[in-house]
Amino acid sequence: MKALITGGSGFVGSHLAEALLARGESVLVLDDLSTGSITNIAHLKKDPKFAYIIDDVTNRRVLAEAGDECDVIYHLAAAVGVRLVVESPVRTIETNLDGTQAVLEAAAKKRKKVLLASTSEVYGKSAKIPFSETDDLLIGPSNKGRWSYACSKLMDEFLGIAFWKERKLPVVIARLFNTVGPRQTGRYGMVIPNFVRQALAGQPITVYGNGKQQRAFGHVQDVVGALIQLMEREDTVGEVFNVGNDVEITIEGLARLVKEMTGSASEIVYVPYDEAYEEGFEDMLRRVPDLTKIKQRIGYQPRYQLRDILQHVIAYERARPKL
Ligand code: UDP
Repeated sequence: MKALITGGSGFVGSHLAEALLARGESVLVLDDLSTGSITNIAHLKKDPKFAYIIDDVTNRRVLAEAGDECDVIYHLAAAVGVRLVVESPVRTIETNLDGTQAVLEAAAKKRKKVLLASTSEVYGKSAKIPFSETDDLLIGPSNKGRWSYACSKLMDEFLGIAFWKERKLPVVIARLFNTVGPRQTGRYGMVIPNFVRQALAGQPITVYGNGKQQRAFGHVQDVVGALIQLMEREDTVGEVFNVGNDVEITIEGLARLVKEMTGSASEIVYVPYDEAYEEGFEDMLRRVPDLTKIKQRIGYQPRYQLRDILQHVIAYERARPKL
């Protein structure tokens, strides 16, 4: 089996590549290195079953060739991180819409199964906790940049399901909730790498808002294991699955836990959302996946909890060469 991973040099994509190679499968990565990094896949280059192409996922010619070579396509290439989304809305929308369309078109020509990586952002501001796959979605207004990301990923989901319904292209959709672990960069605003780096550097740990907002963090290794199973099974086609972990913590609680686990003397400071992102920024108070469907369908059970995740991230950040 050979898998094409778009966005394979990114945080989740590189862990997926590693997991597939460990199972003896072949991997071809297509990544333009816009937010991914070559260092994420540097250790895979010596594996004869690994290859990569540095190019844009919207390059249809490259995609056609890459798709030809592979049996299945994991489509992970997308704009990531709330900070990037707010700062570069045009790029976000274009990458997400055009990239997915290009992948689905290429896959449909050769009838290759596609896994689309979507996001819990599509649930928007919904207050019905936990979020389950058939819930209504509550997206904010179009003058707030954050929601363009949710909408573009939601259009990707619609398009994927349309390709399944109308053209019988096997497509499965995974809504990834806050996925974390080693190699995630803090550059795009993600909270765990930010907090761990701040704590290790003795800098203030920046809690945005009042810190009462809660998140549930999934270990990237649990998440990629789920993606592989969703791809392998036939009874997942044409459907949407939540993937993540459902144990919540407040963001200020997370800051305290990071401080404790790193033994840091950093102070915890509170930064208003307007300063952290943009004026009128809307955050969601809670975001928890209902994991019933994925547990029942593929027997998914997260192996790692938050303390394991933090241990792995702290060890990774301690060992990471500082520029
Ligand atoms: N956050 C924070 N400090 C940071 C980065 C993020 O308090 O340095 C908050 C952010 O406002 C959100 C939560 O942590 O409420 C998770 O943010 P992240 O960007 O990791 O993921 P999101 O859930 O927003 O997609």
